[in-house]
Amino acid sequence: MGSLKIENVKKAFGPVEVLKGIDLEVTDGEFVVFVGPSGCGKSTLLRVIAGLEDSTSGRVLIDGADVSVTPPAKRGIAMVFQTYALYPHLTVKNNMALGLKQAGTPAAEIERRIKIASAMLSLEPYLERRPAELSGGQRQRVAIGRAVVREPKLFLFDEPLSNLDAALRVNTRLEIAQLHRRLKATMIYVTHDQVEAMTLADKIVVLNAGRIEQIGSPMELYNSPANEFVAGFIGSPK
Ligand code: ADP
Ligand code: MG
Repeated sequence: MGSLKIENVKKAFGPVEVLKGIDLEVTDGEFVVFVGPSGCGKSTLLRVIAGLEDSTSGRVLIDGADVSVTPPAKRGIAMVFQTYALYPHLTVKNNMALGLKQAGTPAAEIERRIKIASAMLSLEPYLERRPAELSGGQRQRVAIGRAVVREPKLFLFDEPLSNLDAALRVNTRLEIAQLHRRLKATMIYVTHDQVEAMTLADKIVVLNAGRIEQIGSPMELYNSPANEFVAGFIGSPK
């Protein structure tokens, strides 16, 4: 549970075509990283996968179900943003609980999930604090925890480490890798950081100007880049 199929997805904003025909298959449990320069369409593709944005044409299927006709609560997707997107007036615990409450999850089950997620992410000491009382790294762990408690089959991360300093980036990256091993969920992760891509990915998707340049494992891309663009991006010698 957690496979993804993207079929010839195009997306235009007015006259500007931002996604120019994306085809991709992600199998259950895979960690897939989208890389590419700023403005190439990574966030737009992620938003289309999440169903936050309709595609102009093409389809996104999650376990065979078209995202655009599945109600948000039934999609099994949780997204983590660069800017954390926490509710400032709610405690850490209530930030994590809110989506579950809205979905009608029983209180005891909410407690159970928050306990597990906060242990995984070392958030137990901060559950009664508000976001303003946390560091950037802690805030991002809360945002990740909020995704985890929803028990999604598909996690979407949009440059989650971009606002963190170098040391925290490494730590948080390792936590995300550990989370992937534990949860065995499918994860799609957007970054423009080559090290993040190479260390996290089972499979890297190199995007450029709304198209896929190449799909492959980190070693495949490094050893056999399809073209100069991929070589330049992955840092291989071609
Ligand atoms: P990336 O995440 O790779 O940096 P984005 O997907 O955010 O790129 O953006 C791709 C292109 O689409 C950019 O040129 C951006 O300006 C444009 N774009 C994104 N969202 C919108 C929108 N809501 N309306 C108009 N143009 C948009
Ligand atoms: Mg982006």
